[in-house]
Amino acid sequence: MHQMTLAEIARGLADKKFSSEELTKVLLARITQLDPQLNSFISLTEELAIEQAKAADARRANGESGALLGAPIAHKDLFCTQGIRTSCGSKMLDNFKAPYDATVVAKLAAAGAVTLGKTNMDEFAMGSANESSWYGAVKNPWNLEHVPGGSSGGSAAAVAARLLPAATATDTGGSIRQPAAFTNLTGLKPTYGRVSRWGMIAYASSLDQGGPLARTAEDCAILLQGMAGFDQNDSTSIDEPVPDYSASLGESLQGLRIGVPKEYFSAGLDPRIAELIQNSIKELQKLGAVIKEISLPNMQHAIPAYYVIAPAEASSNLSRFDGVRFGHRCEHPKDLIDLYKRSRGEGFGAEVQRRIMVGAYALSAGYYDAYYLKAQKIRRLVKNDFMAAFNEVDIILGPTTPNPAWKLGAKNSDPVAAYLEDVYTITANLAGLPGLSMPAGFVDGLPVGVQLLAPYFQEGRLLNVAHQYQLHTDWHTRTPQGF
Ligand code: GLN
Repeated sequence: MHQMTLAEIARGLADKKFSSEELTKVLLARITQLDPQLNSFISLTEELAIEQAKAADARRANGESGALLGAPIAHKDLFCTQGIRTSCGSKMLDNFKAPYDATVVAKLAAAGAVTLGKTNMDEFAMGSANESSWYGAVKNPWNLEHVPGGSSGGSAAAVAARLLPAATATDTGGSIRQPAAFTNLTGLKPTYGRVSRWGMIAYASSLDQGGPLARTAEDCAILLQGMAGFDQNDSTSIDEPVPDYSASLGESLQGLRIGVPKEYFSAGLDPRIAELIQNSIKELQKLGAVIKEISLPNMQHAIPAYYVIAPAEASSNLSRFDGVRFGHRCEHPKDLIDLYKRSRGEGFGAEVQRRIMVGAYALSAGYYDAYYLKAQKIRRLVKNDFMAAFNEVDIILGPTTPNPAWKLGAKNSDPVAAYLEDVYTITANLAGLPGLSMPAGFVDGLPVGVQLLAPYFQEGRLLNVAHQYQLHTDWHTRTPQGF
């Protein structure tokens, strides 16, 4: 039962082959049995899950239908869940029970999805390895000595290990696409403003975007359908109609113009990954796509710009955690300043503190123009590169990551080495564009992802290209041994 995709579960539930309650119990037992190896969950919500599953079964018995009605999922632990711990992977929020549901959580619950729990993540979504979580590192089910990617590593490891079919995640600089690549999943970062950020604990507000992690493009379409849409509670939510994503999956790729940026294949890319990307290009050519070399000349400036903008926004967003209103509070403060200092010093881990310091520095009066303003100008150049490219091509294709998943601990002493691994993903966040990663093969038994980028609001196009590719390849069906 645990091997089923969301689409298969929807068909099974509709055909009354099993109930949501039965399926939910099977998966909860599987999580209890296998997750100690992976550490992919921070909280399990068994009681809520059984209650939601029973309610979904009752709704089906009353004639209701829907692809998410009775479907088991989990939420990355930065989506607020009413009355349930929402930790953001941090000691700071270990004792925080959200007083309300995030819009994404509420929408999926209304569609009948069953929440099995909250998944592990890098602290405040800062990281690329899921090692900065206060709840400990997550392991990659493809090789337990390797990282699953981050920051949505818990959602990725759980879905890859078949503990559940799909999970929510967020992507500020790659945190949906990179763990998808590292664990052989399909993950989609939507256009900025497509999915509501209300109730999603903020890291870098102008870059953060929620989206689905699943095993197939078909399943990403189902989960995205439940997440997307205008929300008046989020001032950056965009009031655009949400298309039927599953209906966009049948289109031919005949004549599809795919741009391959020459900068993507420069030094730094593992040649074995380059070869797998070339193979996926050939596969798409067989399906009718036309390949064109393009250039994204400002890509080289994207990492420095991102690692100014994201920490700057984080330093501002995280100022609310002061030990007064919510979250961790130090013992016996001697005065208010001591309360702030020690509560923050004790509550935040090293990477979060590093970014708050970098961000506060970049925003400070004497340095704002030199760093933050400059980074914003680079951001515009990166966006302009994409706009020029999309005048010539329909999608852009390349590797998701320069290397496969590294060993646990390998980049802990060198944060910049980890930042450099984001080279292919962060440009989409800077520009606000949608991006998808899908399985493209293996290197040394570790999965490799190919990334597709599209113009604003063309999530359907990305999902269709990935779906057509998955109809003709079987990388996405491979299962990690022992799971
Ligand atoms: N690795 C990037 C960072 O550490 C991206 C993280 C994310 O997308 N949440 O900021």
